[in-house]
Amino acid sequence: MCAIEAGKRGRRVAVLEHADRLGKKILISGGGRCNFTNLHCQPENFLSANPHFAKSALARYTPADFIALVEKHRIPYHEKTLGQLFCDRSARDILGMLEDECRLAGVEIVLNVKIREVSRAAEFTVRTANEEFQAPVLVVACGGLSIPKIGATAFGYELARKFGIRIREPWPGLVPVLLDPQDRSRYCDLAGVSAEVVASCDGQQFREKMLITHRGLSGPAILQISSYWEKPQLLTIDLAPGNDATGIFRDPKNARTESLLRSELRKILPSRFADRWLELHSLESWTNSALANFEHQLHSWNIFPAGTEGFDKAEVTAGGVDTDELSAKTMESRKVPGLFFIGEVVDVTGHLGGFNFQWAWASGAAAGRAL
Ligand SMILES: Cc1cc2nc3c(=O)[nH]c(=O)nc-3n(C[C@H](O)[C@H](O)[C@H](O)COP(=O)(O)OP(=O)(O)OC[C@H]3O[C@@H](n4cnc5c(N)ncnc54)[C@H](O)[C@@H]3O)c2cc1C
Repeated sequence: MCAIEAGKRGRRVAVLEHADRLGKKILISGGGRCNFTNLHCQPENFLSANPHFAKSALARYTPADFIALVEKHRIPYHEKTLGQLFCDRSARDILGMLEDECRLAGVEIVLNVKIREVSRAAEFTVRTANEEFQAPVLVVACGGLSIPKIGATAFGYELARKFGIRIREPWPGLVPVLLDPQDRSRYCDLAGVSAEVVASCDGQQFREKMLITHRGLSGPAILQISSYWEKPQLLTIDLAPGNDATGIFRDPKNARTESLLRSELRKILPSRFADRWLELHSLESWTNSALANFEHQLHSWNIFPAGTEGFDKAEVTAGGVDTDELSAKTMESRKVPGLFFIGEVVDVTGHLGGFNFQWAWASGAAAGRAL
């Protein structure tokens, strides 16, 4: 996006990519359909040490701007849920669109580049195994640490450090969490079971689906809250949001029996999970206070995850280049004029739902318009 904007303004641009093709993450994104933006994109959908930093770029390149580009290329798309826009056909459409726009803007794309050294005198010099590139400005767009097997590297952070630019320690975001051994033995044989929950941590909460996995918990609610979680914090899960499993017993006509409680719980949770919950949280008596306690536990399942699945499985890397180091308008380093950082390498991390791409497009456009 940065290369396109700069190329359109007549700049000579080369994109140096170490993989054998551009945009591999676009291809695997959104289950192969690329959730390329979100209609309800707001600054509140992003984590950053400075929550105001992203506002300017997001306001100057909006979801409507990206949608206009998608429509110009006649790419069919749909809203899946909660403002999330996906390609009807394939993420290849988005990558092809960006490659076409690069061609139209006269951008040179160089693949399989192994960068050996970056230095700065009058200009920036990027030395690769067999070439040397020189330019008055350099834009670092090499993403975060998630999914190393498709080419993620720490290169962007290392480059920042080399130029004396502060990094906020990166951590895996939008990532499944691991249950501790005891909870794993209690629940993980239910792998594949999902339920709508509210997951909360550190003053944040998300109401979406939770999925039990072979090692812990995943699903949108867990991925979202994982970006805010840090060991050894507590994660609290409301397994029955807006529901009252024991409410039926307020009517004295209803006998207080386990089978009635089970059938009520099965209306809220998948049967296997409901049965397991009852096994593990059996009532000591049928008093009002025992029922209230059961209800309370159902709405606040407290877990101390053993960790997360880490960068191998994380959809995004939180943390990164400290936003205090950058101009919010252009993404240019304050200390090193001519050096820019955009996208995921910056300490701006989106929620699940197309926000990370919107940040990549918006920060790329902000820099591209300033080069
Ligand atoms: C499985 C998965 C699914 C996702 N789905 C979505 C989704 O549907 N919607 C959404 O909004 N976000 C999604 N994301 C997040 C989104 O893909 C990223 O936030 C976004 O791609 C970041 O863009 P970027 O340009 O900053 O970095 P990247 O897309 O990671 O691009 C960085 C590029 O730099 C290259 N590079 C790295 N190191 C070097 C080096 N040393 N030399 C040269 N080149 C280098 C990489 O090969 C890569 O091509 C998903 C992420 C994953 C892992």
